[in-house]
Amino acid sequence: MATETQSPLYIKMHVNDNVAIVVNDGGLPAGTQFPCGLRLIEAIPQGHKLALVSLLAHEKIVRYNVTIGYATETIAQGRWIQEALVQLPAARDLHNLPIADRPAPATSPLEGYTFQGFRNRDGSVGTRNILAITTTVQCVAGVVECAVKRIKEELLPKFPHVDDVIGLDHTYGCGVAIDAPDAQIPIRTVRNISLNPNFGGQAMVVSLGCEKLQPTRLFPKAAIPIQNTSEPLIVCLQDSQHVGFMAMIDAIMSTAEQQLTALNQRRRETCPASDLVIGVQCGGSDAFSGVTANPAVGFATDLLVRAGATVMFSEVTEVRDGIDQLTARAATPAIADAMIREMAWYDQYLKRGGVDRSANTTPGNKKGGLSNIVEKAMGSIVKSGSSAITGVLAPGEKLSSTSKGLIYAVTPASDFICGTLQLAAGMNMHVFTTGRGTPYGLAAVPVVKVATRNELAKRWYDLMDINAGKIASGESSISDVGWELFHFMLEVASGKKTWAEHWKLQNSLVLFNPAPIT
Ligand code: CA
Repeated sequence: MATETQSPLYIKMHVNDNVAIVVNDGGLPAGTQFPCGLRLIEAIPQGHKLALVSLLAHEKIVRYNVTIGYATETIAQGRWIQEALVQLPAARDLHNLPIADRPAPATSPLEGYTFQGFRNRDGSVGTRNILAITTTVQCVAGVVECAVKRIKEELLPKFPHVDDVIGLDHTYGCGVAIDAPDAQIPIRTVRNISLNPNFGGQAMVVSLGCEKLQPTRLFPKAAIPIQNTSEPLIVCLQDSQHVGFMAMIDAIMSTAEQQLTALNQRRRETCPASDLVIGVQCGGSDAFSGVTANPAVGFATDLLVRAGATVMFSEVTEVRDGIDQLTARAATPAIADAMIREMAWYDQYLKRGGVDRSANTTPGNKKGGLSNIVEKAMGSIVKSGSSAITGVLAPGEKLSSTSKGLIYAVTPASDFICGTLQLAAGMNMHVFTTGRGTPYGLAAVPVVKVATRNELAKRWYDLMDINAGKIASGESSISDVGWELFHFMLEVASGKKTWAEHWKLQNSLVLFNPAPIT
């Protein structure tokens, strides 16, 4: 690989930056001299920062043309800028932000791109055809797991146009303060996941009977899309007709057969790229995330938006320090205000727990060169590309069928919770970038994984779908990888399997429940 043999290389993101990151695999030893003449005065690991100039104590440390921190002491040119040398700046005040004052550059529509998808009655399009069994409460999870195993073995082979059968288990449903104002978040999340485009539009529900989250509360009549043929099909385990365990399994299986018969009628048809609903997120980030994979995703985001598709970006603590960039890019003042409102809510949520946004970064992030949340956020936010932001979704809310363009879907940065909330919002494909490496996958939608570094792409050759590391080593440009990702997404939307699907890697759904437990 080029980086193993190439001369010493660093990447400076912006002309105003006074730090840069080391590109070479394995890092660089003390005494290394770069072609520009700059010499390292100590060894620096790959992805970690070097001082391009000497810095005084309290001087701004600038990367991405943003102050990521202040020097805690004098830092000589060529020194390794470790975490302890970087003092975290205060979070951006949510008052006096720029509001919708930076209109997105005019772009031409991107026409003629299509994929083969499953169109639903409400106009949404699935990229997979899956029988999903919704659960109202964790109590039924074991029974549903047994039933799903038998459905897969005994029924699924008879329905060749159905891709999979999954149980939507979660830990919510009872033992919770269900009337607390914030309980609406987990409740609407479960409801809206059940209506994900990949599940065909009609929910099948397994309920226990005595739980707080009753099926009628999960699916009040008003919440059922008018285009659906009928109300959810419900199996209640405590119903008196179920005598013994096998009676429950039989009831679930016969309801499943009814659903499978309907789903098996679905066929892929040619759909415009505008029917894609892509959720983007990152996990296991390193200093290359913001240099390679996330900018390539941002490039693909702009292509998708030009093609009329919907792209959701999320992860509150990873955009909080760039809120001024986002409010400036809002299509209208009302959209900027909605973002500010959601950021303020999240600040309070963290404060209630005695922490702030700095609780986000992981040991792996730091080992990968990210000193703090500001630096991580600047690398994360670029997944959103450069388009105007046309909508904001609160956690667990579902996109309306008319929402298109770039949407800020409010979620925690936690990989599982972000993915779960983007499923509820209605994504039909997930794009996930990683630098440290995570084998993340979801049962409900394909997950396209993008590696930030050549070394990871090589080591995890059968887990990473796209290698953006080629950007750091100079073999590809951001636009090359962005286009590669765009074309790959159309293929995956049409049925091509991702590596996570190939290996059946399926992480659990994890609900965001900010409300009290009883
Ligand atoms: Ca994440």
